[in-house]
Amino acid sequence: MTLHHGVIGNPIKHSLSPMIHEYFANEFKLDIHYEKYLFELNNFSEQVKQLIQNNVTGLNVTVPFKTDAFNLADELTENAKLAGAVNTLKLEGRHLIGENTDGMGLVSDIRNNLAINLKDKIILIVGAGGATRGIIKPLLDENIKELHILNRTEEKAIELAAKFSQYGEVSGHGIKIDDFKVDIIINATSSSLDGEAPQISDKFYQNSFCYDLMYGSQTPFMVNALNNDANQVFDGLGMLVEQAAKSFEFWTGKRPDSKKVIKKVRERIA
Ligand code: NDP
Repeated sequence: MTLHHGVIGNPIKHSLSPMIHEYFANEFKLDIHYEKYLFELNNFSEQVKQLIQNNVTGLNVTVPFKTDAFNLADELTENAKLAGAVNTLKLEGRHLIGENTDGMGLVSDIRNNLAINLKDKIILIVGAGGATRGIIKPLLDENIKELHILNRTEEKAIELAAKFSQYGEVSGHGIKIDDFKVDIIINATSSSLDGEAPQISDKFYQNSFCYDLMYGSQTPFMVNALNNDANQVFDGLGMLVEQAAKSFEFWTGKRPDSKKVIKKVRERIA
């Protein structure tokens, strides 16, 4: 029986998800038809209902619909509740379940693929948008020492830090603060879309492990990190594949070999 899955977004043309999910399906010889769906900005629920009528049972959700998916789901996983956003929908009977795999994807990539131990590390996340909300709790679950959130709009960072402070040592700041040391910097801003790196102090980069959630090319953040003696610098392609693998597992119960797929996708987009 053919399974119908897909990814919803606007824009969606450049999504790598169909390629990634094709590799996953091939590994298990599953017959999965995975489609890109360009949604209109209004009427999210009506558009999802239409897909369900067309036998779609698994959906990835990307910008700008993660909050709509959160609001639409009949049931939410703990990850999704904490993130306040849903990037994966699964239809079980007539019940739509919302999950968020972004944070698990990031942690898997850093811990398993890049072999970085997160325990006792001081982590700086730049940005306080949807992606940051999804990654905070999974990072705190790794027994890190401290998490600092820096954001251009300071109030958002402070608000997020307050929301998660019950789970660990979290603080929120404006983007200019520089009076602490860090081991790991995660760029979770969309500043690359403006062709710039977030305006954090250059001193943070020195000897740090630097990870940009953006992927595909060397971003301004990655260039800054390299120019300021970062220890190691990575883009977010590994996270993209890992979060997709978690979605695939959520739908099918099967765990794909994501490391192989990261390699193949990187070769294909080079
Ligand atoms: P949001 O739009 O929710 O948040 C954007 C954030 O970026 C805000 O904190 C905003 O600050 C900040 N920002 C935007 N422009 C600048 C700038 N020029 N300088 C400094 N800060 C800036 O986006 P998301 O959180 O959903 O996504 C963030 C990034 O993560 C995107 O690039 C996305 O592609 C990537 N991503 C990658 C994934 C992967 O699998 N690799 C998964 C999910 C996301 P302010 O609050 O001040 O506006």
